Amino acid sequence: MSHDQQKFADQLRDKGYRLTLQRQLILDALCELGGHAAIGDVYDRVHAQSSAVDRATVYRTLHLFHELGFVVSADINGSTVYEIADHQPHHHLVCRECGHVTALHDHHFVALAEHLFQEHGFRADINHMTIDGVCHHCR
Ligand SMILES: [Zn+2]
Ligand SMILES: [Zn+2]
Repeated sequence: MSHDQQKFADQLRDKGYRLTLQRQLILDALCELGGHAAIGDVYDRVHAQSSAVDRATVYRTLHLFHELGFVVSADINGSTVYEIADHQPHHHLVCRECGHVTALHDHHFVALAEHLFQEHGFRADINHMTIDGVCHHCR
């Protein structure tokens, strides 16, 4: 168990959940896949380790991790992807022509969040946004 996994197990326990073997396997798969992983990718990896884990379990577990804030998700090119949440939020530019995905640092949205709060009294959850458009290759 890596340092991060220990931290994760502690956080899970704090919220009243146990780090079961299935949850452990799903977490490992997400870490190994790194970056965006579709449910199918996670399932394939976990299922190779333990055939007892079915798709519904993977789906429910990813949903739970998402609710607890351990993973972020996004709809990219028509499929939902998951990844381990960073300490700093990040976002993505998604090209609708070639499907290329570029990471975008959170600092671009600090002024926007500030504006929404000051002018609209709105505390925006700006986390893992995807912005669709056309990349510089396809333009
Ligand atoms: Zn493109
Ligand atoms: Zn991402």
